[in-house]
Amino acid sequence: MTRFDPPLPFIDLAAQRRRLGPALDEAILKVVHAGAYILGPEVAEFETALADFCGARHVVSCSDGTDAIALCLMAKGVGPGHAVVCPSFTYTATAEAVARLGATPVFADVEDVTFNLDPAGIPAALATARAAGLEPVGVIPVDLFGHPADYDALAAVCAEHGLWMLADSAQGFGATYRGRRLGTFGFATTTSFFPAKPLGCFGDGGAIVTDDDGLDAVLRSLRFHGLSADRQDNDRVGLTGRLDTIQAAVLLQKLAIFDDEIAARGRIADRYAAGLADVASVPTVAADCVSVWAQYTIRVAPERRASLAAHLKAAGIPTAIYYARPVHRQGAYAACPVAGNGLPVTERLSTEAISLPMHPYLDEATQDAIVEEVRAALA
Ligand SMILES: *Cc1c(COP(=O)(O)O)cnc(C)c1O
Repeated sequence: MTRFDPPLPFIDLAAQRRRLGPALDEAILKVVHAGAYILGPEVAEFETALADFCGARHVVSCSDGTDAIALCLMAKGVGPGHAVVCPSFTYTATAEAVARLGATPVFADVEDVTFNLDPAGIPAALATARAAGLEPVGVIPVDLFGHPADYDALAAVCAEHGLWMLADSAQGFGATYRGRRLGTFGFATTTSFFPAKPLGCFGDGGAIVTDDDGLDAVLRSLRFHGLSADRQDNDRVGLTGRLDTIQAAVLLQKLAIFDDEIAARGRIADRYAAGLADVASVPTVAADCVSVWAQYTIRVAPERRASLAAHLKAAGIPTAIYYARPVHRQGAYAACPVAGNGLPVTERLSTEAISLPMHPYLDEATQDAIVEEVRAALA
């Protein structure tokens, strides 16, 4: 018997929309009527609000989370011959931004507990890059599934080797590392407002957070076709990389409830852990960190994963596998160097990880039913 018919949503954006109510529709209509569709007043208002939210000097909004990374790399002059260390156990976009500029992603392994880039694996990645005739220039850690990467340890390794660090917080934006909101680790932090991310808009969008005044100016130029400061010239090659005014209006409404949503996500994660820790490997967050739980990803024995997914699907409970095919196994990246003797943790996680429904509007009765079905499937 199907327990949930129609099936549950994996992420319930409709519940969030109901909560935000007519104010959201009015904010969108206001932009439609005002007509400033590109860089209207809501864009600057949102950038200021987001900078305040994470205690940073600047936010440059942009077209999406991949362009956010690419814009930072363009500002750094990254190009052919350069190697950038990234995890392979992540969404494709991290490496894609590097490859698209002609530079080479070099894949390094992740930590077993946090799923995030292992600082101890970076020296091997640098050696691999040099052996391939590449110059390592930087590292892009990812806050996978919403858990902050180990920024202090990563920053120490980067400093030791003369590398910059760029934080890809597309999944972790809003999280806290050692009492500080993500956004001010590395030379810049990027995020995505893809609808399914913890802070999402109604389309594509992204942002870059930085404390660097000079970088802020360069990024504003790059996202607008390389427009010069006096707006009389185009003195660099840029992108059509702006955030739409309508999306900024949506994001202003969503940012107002984001802290409350982060707290709800934390409560739901705690309930999942309490209900499942004895039947599956449940995710943990470092003691002095707050995750935004972009995903709730458990680990099961590889031979049980498909049957768990099938059992839940039959009950009307969706699951997702992030990531069955790590980036170094994807066609476009198969020729990129892999650090040291391969990525054993990445390979193992790709066979064990399975993500359960996770969003701030998952009520307790529904969550209890999900826990019950997971337990029944794994019994
Ligand atoms: C979603 C995501 C991106 C890219 O964001 P888009 O807005 O879809 O371009 C980059 N990195 C990670 C880790 C992501 O999850």
